[in-house]
Amino acid sequence: MADSKTDKMLAGAAMTSEPVIDKHYQLRETKKATEIIEKAMNLAREEIPKGHVATYIPELGKEDPHQLGICLYPLKGDKICLGDYDVRFTMQSVSKVVMLIVALEVCGLKNVFKKVGMEPSGEAFDSLVELDVSNSKPYNPLINSGALAVCGLLLPEVSFQDMLRYTRNVCSDQGIELNESVFDSEMKTCSRNRSIAYLLESKGIITTDVEDTLRFYTKMCSMNVTAESLANLGKKLANDGVCAIDGKRYMSSRTARIAKTLMLTCGMYDGSGSFAIKVGIPTKSGVGGGLLSVSDKRAGIGVFGPALDVQGNSIAGCKLLREISNKLRLNLFYDPEWDKEDEEDEENTVLKEMQARSVM
Ligand code: GLN
Repeated sequence: MADSKTDKMLAGAAMTSEPVIDKHYQLRETKKATEIIEKAMNLAREEIPKGHVATYIPELGKEDPHQLGICLYPLKGDKICLGDYDVRFTMQSVSKVVMLIVALEVCGLKNVFKKVGMEPSGEAFDSLVELDVSNSKPYNPLINSGALAVCGLLLPEVSFQDMLRYTRNVCSDQGIELNESVFDSEMKTCSRNRSIAYLLESKGIITTDVEDTLRFYTKMCSMNVTAESLANLGKKLANDGVCAIDGKRYMSSRTARIAKTLMLTCGMYDGSGSFAIKVGIPTKSGVGGGLLSVSDKRAGIGVFGPALDVQGNSIAGCKLLREISNKLRLNLFYDPEWDKEDEEDEENTVLKEMQARSVM
């Protein structure tokens, strides 16, 4: 039986049942949002000197680290494209989201999660330690070991050409091609991924030809996209798998939900937890400098910034997303109380509050 406390809570809930936040907060005001993003870009550029382009794939080492571009595509409102939004770069690990989507659609949820887990690994993207010490399957499909396992599942079902066609469609970008030089470059230096793949074969997780699986995976990583194509993909994920323009469905809503959830918990490798706290937008990174972000029910966002932090995530891209998340209220867990701490750095605010309450 409900006690008076419960009654009060229920009454409170009824009183505040009006939506307190417009889900499309500020995104419909394109001019204002553009100004906010421009400012955020300037702040984000300051981070570039602290990062480095990836060099373990020699071809990626040739990228100009100073590039930065963003495309934010709201479900309602105009597309905002700034900086190097139309520059092509290789998708790298962002393609793990596409591999996962297709595997869930083609092979089914049970078969996918027989091969990979759904937990963050807390390890680097190309780690194999946790695979070797425990006898288990890869932690999740968004790290190299997990994506290689997913590729083993996909290989008998689809060709790379099928995957390329799907990627072009889901990214609304028919210009996506395989970047042959990046592919060749990675194939020459991928001994770590090769080790992971053979380890997975030894555990019975990869049952397809290991070299073919490795080539399929590396080709997927070498598709050249733009920040704009990633925003198009993000927008479909934000809209539960459906194109908001023509109503066409690209994946089931369950597949979209699983992809977004794993992006939030595992999309930024061993930086996923702090990114979720600071930015709060499901995001997948790639060492080509790409970031695919999904502001659920609001917008798809694509970012390109090839200078990376130690975890292999775009250093300026992360700063840019953090800024726009705060200023455009895109954090999944946004609440109006944040307006009070608007101009202050969150960590300082929390620390000051704790000190004031003598908790510290
Ligand atoms: N192709 C890269 C690799 O397998 C992708 C890694 C990444 O983007 N984090 O190492």
